[in-house]
Amino acid sequence: MVPFLDLKAQHSSIRQEIDSAIREVLDSSAFVLGKPVEDFEKEFARYIGVHHCVGLNSGTDALLLALRALGVGPGHEVITVANSFYASVEAILLAGATPVLVDALPKTALMNVTQIKEKINPKTKAIIPVHLYGQPVDMSLLMEVSHYHHVPIIEDACQAHGAVYNGKKVGGFGDIGCFSFYPGKNLGALGDGGAVVTNREDLAQKMRVLRDHGSPRKYEHEEIGTNSRLDGIQAAVLSVKLKKLDGWNQKRVVHAAAYRHALASVPGLQLLDQSPNRTSANHLFVVQVPPQKRMQIIDKLKAHGIGSGIHYPHPLHHLKPLRKLMPQAKFPVSEALCASIISLPMFAELIPAQIEEVVVHLKEALK
Ligand SMILES: *Cc1c(COP(=O)(O)O)cnc(C)c1O
Repeated sequence: MVPFLDLKAQHSSIRQEIDSAIREVLDSSAFVLGKPVEDFEKEFARYIGVHHCVGLNSGTDALLLALRALGVGPGHEVITVANSFYASVEAILLAGATPVLVDALPKTALMNVTQIKEKINPKTKAIIPVHLYGQPVDMSLLMEVSHYHHVPIIEDACQAHGAVYNGKKVGGFGDIGCFSFYPGKNLGALGDGGAVVTNREDLAQKMRVLRDHGSPRKYEHEEIGTNSRLDGIQAAVLSVKLKKLDGWNQKRVVHAAAYRHALASVPGLQLLDQSPNRTSANHLFVVQVPPQKRMQIIDKLKAHGIGSGIHYPHPLHHLKPLRKLMPQAKFPVSEALCASIISLPMFAELIPAQIEEVVVHLKEALK
């Protein structure tokens, strides 16, 4: 049996530390914000290498509050990529702005940064690159575009905790970096959670106010904010897990290398490219198979007790809320990817025998 993800294995390895972190919060009653959240915010900012972190309810809220902090709203356009999780574009719609998409690159499945220039106009108020599957987007090229056109960058790093580009952690490149601590992410809470990181004091302050009903001081509500506060228990658990993150990510690197080695030249199977000067967080290990065989392969793996996933089956412009906005849109690379990708089991606690089992049955299913 090889599950797609095994959170029980992760938690059993740190159960005592988690239990005592939770007990401390129970004893202190700091259930919402408070010291555990402040401590985690400091630790996570230091980890990413930025000045500020603001703990939130989710990665989706991180994107939404980032957009709102930058003043993005109705009448504005925000550029992101057609191959991503829905929340990347949902946040733009929630902010009242119009999403504008570019296609993905066939070799990495990441945002095709060269297509951005032709989409920029005076209404463009932000660009959201997505470090999908844990792989860093080409940030040098993107930062050039951003500086040249004076358009801020909000990084969707919700799948890329600890991923490195040219020696620097992703999330720390743009004006704001957004993270999700959904349980299945590389750094996951025991429920929902998220955070924004930034080097700009003004933006950090703005997002702190927005997450707590628009109030810089208790009962002084100065704007329409929301309730997107991080829980003390989640923050305390995240502080425990943050210390393990680099070790876990190193294990994911080893597992990805083992998959790559074993699957290097299998007929019908294509791996995504590893770009130079970057270390992926390997959130997902995604391969491409012939579209007409995909369901059959997934079923065969399942019959052998092997979990898998599709991240994601539809490009964003094919989803209902986007279809209405851009009925004519075509992003052929994203469309082809969504029809052919499979995500194989990937988590730190995988053992070599499990990877071997996945490889054997995947090869068999491809025949
Ligand atoms: C998980 C995820 C989000 C949203 O995070 P939530 O915490 O589930 O709201 C946004 N973007 C990407 C790419 C994600 O994978």
